[in-house]
Amino acid sequence: MTKKPLIEVKSLQKQFPVYGPFGKLGGVKQTVHAVKDVSLTLYEGETYGLVGESGSGKSTTGRTILGLTPATAGEVLYEGKDLVKLSKSEMRKFRKELQLVFQDPFSSLNPRKRIGQTLEEPLIIHGLGDKEERIEKVFRILDIVGLQKEHYYRYPHEFSGGQRQRLSIARALIMNPKVMICDEPVSALDVSIQSQILNILKALQREMQLTMLFITHDISVVRYISHRIGIMYLGTIVEEACTDDLFAETLHPYTKALFSAVPTGKKQERIVLKGEIPSPLNPPSGCVFHTRCPFATERCRQEVPALREIRPQHKVACHYAEEEKQWSN
Ligand code: SF4
Repeated sequence: MTKKPLIEVKSLQKQFPVYGPFGKLGGVKQTVHAVKDVSLTLYEGETYGLVGESGSGKSTTGRTILGLTPATAGEVLYEGKDLVKLSKSEMRKFRKELQLVFQDPFSSLNPRKRIGQTLEEPLIIHGLGDKEERIEKVFRILDIVGLQKEHYYRYPHEFSGGQRQRLSIARALIMNPKVMICDEPVSALDVSIQSQILNILKALQREMQLTMLFITHDISVVRYISHRIGIMYLGTIVEEACTDDLFAETLHPYTKALFSAVPTGKKQERIVLKGEIPSPLNPPSGCVFHTRCPFATERCRQEVPALREIRPQHKVACHYAEEEKQWSN
């Protein structure tokens, strides 16, 4: 069956200006290159896992795709429109189809409102249904995420962390979205609660044919939930493949190091990288990984490696991806 692209992200960039002590009056002092160059495709009904360390730009990528923070350059094609070019009012039409599930669900829930009111709110804003239909819909969504009708009348502080994350998913689902971007939705939860939330998301994705971008730093979580995975480093995707292919063989030195720290069922040595991820205020020239890569050459310092297909559906951004001089798997 041919997969249908639902969202195509092309050469997306996001820069943030850094101002001096006099704010905007003093002009821009530096620029944070949070997203340097990201291209990816989300196919209908798939879960794409975006993995990277803190500071890799994965959350900013998610927010920029949704238009929650405006892109500096690039395209986000959805249903024939480039979301980057839409005005705020044009974007409103698409907002209900593209939803975000936050890492910190408390921030998306109004502490002074009962949960029922919070969940009903987007339906009221978009003029969907009468009071009775809206309440019915809220009850249905609460049931889907494993909560009860009585929870409609409670306040956010009366819920546990896991229940709040269920509410955050419910809030995203209430608008029947086509795409959900989940930004570290389980990283603040205990392992047992994590698996409950992951199972809910997996079932939803399957039953509602949702398309998901799942952002996380956790390799085991991304392996469990994703059909395909993109590895991010300093604002760029350095490797992308189907989940099984990636766990069978990693090709980029950074992915090899990242995966060496988690049990994958294969005999492997831990690879410890030198130094820290460089600051996005001053990203390295050429290959962004060259300051930590033991195989870096002069070419790596000068030339940005393109993300290219080395095997079917397996892309890598490394000049020497085909060569044997890399760490063995
Ligand atoms: Fe390392 Fe060079 Fe490949 Fe970058 S391009 S990952 S620096 S070998």
